[in-house]
Amino acid sequence: MDLDVDAAAGVLRAGGLVAFPTETVYGLGAHALDERAVRRVFEVKGRPADNPLIVHVASLDEVDRVAVPTPLARRLGGRYWPGPLTVVLDARVVVPAVTRGGLGTVAVRVPAHPLALELLRRSGLPLAAPSANRSGRPSPTTAAHVRADLGDTVPVLDGGPCTVGLESTVVDARGEVPVVLRQGSVGAEELGAVAGAGPQLGASPGTRHRHYAPRCEVVVADPREGAATAAALVAQGRRVALVGPPEAPHGVEHLASVDGAEDLGRRLYALLREAEDVGVDAVVVEAVPEDGVGRAVMDRLRRAAEPR
Ligand code: AMP
Ligand code: MG
Repeated sequence: MDLDVDAAAGVLRAGGLVAFPTETVYGLGAHALDERAVRRVFEVKGRPADNPLIVHVASLDEVDRVAVPTPLARRLGGRYWPGPLTVVLDARVVVPAVTRGGLGTVAVRVPAHPLALELLRRSGLPLAAPSANRSGRPSPTTAAHVRADLGDTVPVLDGGPCTVGLESTVVDARGEVPVVLRQGSVGAEELGAVAGAGPQLGASPGTRHRHYAPRCEVVVADPREGAATAAALVAQGRRVALVGPPEAPHGVEHLASVDGAEDLGRRLYALLREAEDVGVDAVVVEAVPEDGVGRAVMDRLRRAAEPR
């Protein structure tokens, strides 16, 4: 079922769920302060209860409704919002424990997508919205991906393919220096430059869980080694797809040639889903350099490739 922004805002105000596009991935939205609605988000996704949700708000000023802003959060928000950076702050008591995964903090961001912003404004609500996939699957970057995972259980606001395609960078912004809890499209180097100090690395609860895996095996090849890696797997009698190089050896399904880390980031989840749809045993993906967004791309790729 598709719907428009007004209808979607009505569903959310009535305590229902709506999937909506953001620049990163599609989110499964619920009124962040409505415990029952948020509980349903966890149910529909099959998400572990200890993995807290990101609360989306319409502007920097709205952070106050759910969290205690710090000077660092204001500085980061001023620079990156609307955009793919999430800040973790001390939570206001109105935020139910289920939204926070039982923590005393809450993650907040302002998404850079016109439909998401319109939905936030028209509903007038802070919206908890994790990725709109079944937990553990590649994140959805189109409305069709959401439907493939969630079927008709939730209505979807269709805004076309996501422009960033990778989840936001999550930083703890309670102190004076940002602590990166999850890599994302905003690189750690860049954050350090904005915050005036090198960001430290931590780990968010979500990074403990298995993630991003399609039904076929994912093999990460060294740069420029994709074709040889794929050919070796074919020689073992396996059906193989390839992502990265401009062409594929004989007997290998060529899924996409990729133009750098940003391009791979935008298309990675869609390509993993495409690999399972074409019915190969394995998809070989060529590694990209690990700087800037490349760090987040390689983090997702390695986790998708973890043996199950
Ligand atoms: P998702 O919404 O699926 O993109 O995941 C949100 C990410 O933010 C997960 O890695 C969470 O563990 C992380 N996160 C959300 N809230 C918090 C918090 N209060 N403290 C630390 N990490 C958080
Ligand atoms: Mg997710």
